[in-house]
Amino acid sequence: MNLVIACDHGGLSAKNAISAFLASRGCTVTDLGTDTEAAVDYADFAVQAAETVTEGKADAAILICKTGIGMSLTANRFAGVRAALCVSVEAAQKARAHNDSNVLVLAGSVSEEETLAIVRTFLDTPFSGEPRHVRRIAKLERAERLAEVSFLAAADPEIHATVLAQIAQEDSTVNLIASENTVTRAVREASGSVLTNKYAEGYPGKRWYSGCIPVDTAEQLAIARAKQLFGADHANVQPHCGSAANMGVYFAVLKPGDTILSMSLDQGGHLTHGSPVNFSGQLFNIVPYRVSRETEALDYDALEALAKETKPKLIVAGASAYPRTLDFPRFRAIADAVGAMLMVDMAHIAGLVAGGAHPSPVPYAEFVTTTTHKTLRGPRGGLILCREEFAKAIDKTVFPGLQGGPLENIIAAKAVCFREALSPSFKAYAQQVVANSKALAATLAARGFHLVSGGTDNHLMLVNVARNGLTGKDAAAALDAAGIICNKNTIPFDTNSPFVTSGIRIGTASVTTRGMKEAEMATIGNWIADILADITNTAKQETVCAEVATLTAQFLVP
Ligand code: PLP
Repeated sequence: MNLVIACDHGGLSAKNAISAFLASRGCTVTDLGTDTEAAVDYADFAVQAAETVTEGKADAAILICKTGIGMSLTANRFAGVRAALCVSVEAAQKARAHNDSNVLVLAGSVSEEETLAIVRTFLDTPFSGEPRHVRRIAKLERAERLAEVSFLAAADPEIHATVLAQIAQEDSTVNLIASENTVTRAVREASGSVLTNKYAEGYPGKRWYSGCIPVDTAEQLAIARAKQLFGADHANVQPHCGSAANMGVYFAVLKPGDTILSMSLDQGGHLTHGSPVNFSGQLFNIVPYRVSRETEALDYDALEALAKETKPKLIVAGASAYPRTLDFPRFRAIADAVGAMLMVDMAHIAGLVAGGAHPSPVPYAEFVTTTTHKTLRGPRGGLILCREEFAKAIDKTVFPGLQGGPLENIIAAKAVCFREALSPSFKAYAQQVVANSKALAATLAARGFHLVSGGTDNHLMLVNVARNGLTGKDAAAALDAAGIICNKNTIPFDTNSPFVTSGIRIGTASVTTRGMKEAEMATIGNWIADILADITNTAKQETVCAEVATLTAQFLVP
């Protein structure tokens, strides 16, 4: 067992006795002090020891001050620390068996004999693992999610209430919004960190403000990790969102009036791919490409013919609602055939690309843009990857061309996200997102729903609910009432307006983050089918809503 021990002046003699006892048992112990009778502040020592446990560098810690109170108050502020102040052997036994305590706090005023008996009991008692104790500890750890916004509770009760409402919604509903995910606590912490206080116009090492060393380090880490994750020559991590990333590329290499060949919004493309209500459609000559009416998948031959006819300067691949694998080598060949540049907007599939569950566009495109908050599971933001020859133009366009000060707190959170995405567990996550999507699609198909293009290769599917006599709007509202959150979506060649639609879009990124697998997907698919069988059946919606809450209680949101 790897232990750390620390005390203040009130616990020095007890620490010396415990250290000798631990040495006699052959324990590995790191002594963090104090080593003299001079008065010191307990918090300094408790912080060091608690950090060691939080970071996983020690299995457990022992802290001693005169009463034990200051040490336990301090240690318990750290994530994952369960510090127990024990002044009796019985308390030490329960602290381990019931609370799985990992920090033993002792009072220096207790006799040496009693103190050593407490330490021995603490070290020798395993956690019972009984379900009631497991459940209670889970609830204890869960309280952190509420404690995390406790300053807000006092400072702004109204906004605090909205955060609590979001927490409650996430806890008790199934989130199938294909463009959303549920980030880790580490990503949330970086997003909400003091890095928000810093102005840092420019780039690492070349800023317009002093005092940028910490944010320079954060931004350099984000850049290096993004390049490593996607195998790109250059990364600009500053775009505030996916739309800004796309704007960065357009403004770096196009002039107003230039031609862009891109997927139209009503077929699955994004607003920034040339919608008339967006800057892209207003500034550039947009030629939209569509899916095949028969297969509802991209027809690359038709795309090539259109490219040859219209000679675009830029071809945009990528979509917000396309369930099939994108053929990047084919896009490259088409671009080469007409002398166009290729930009891939991988916003939806970036996490799948990072985890190897979708082919990477990076070897094929001059530019790859993405959001960082969808399948990639990072903070809300954008990212541009490009070939070295475009690096300067992209950087100059993002700043000072389009933005002022970068959001360094968000950039730090992007760095955290990229690090997470580089881990083997993220690879497994990405594969599971697709496996879950296929399982959900199979259940819906078996229950008589038509999926656009006949199924899915990625994290999302489009369900044509019009074939079941419904509109997307009504279907999404009925599911919402049952605790199943998705969005209405146009389907290719939709005859309904974008406000009504003939489809719903469903994605598995968030439920997979929660740990759900194929079995839960079958359950959710059957709930969806049951609700859509009669959207006026409010009793059924209530029943499913309760079942959803029971299921989600077993898959806690991070
Ligand atoms: N590109 C695609 C393909 C998207 O789906 C989205 C968002 O849904 C964006 C770009 C824009 O991202 P943001 O909302 O961050 O501007």
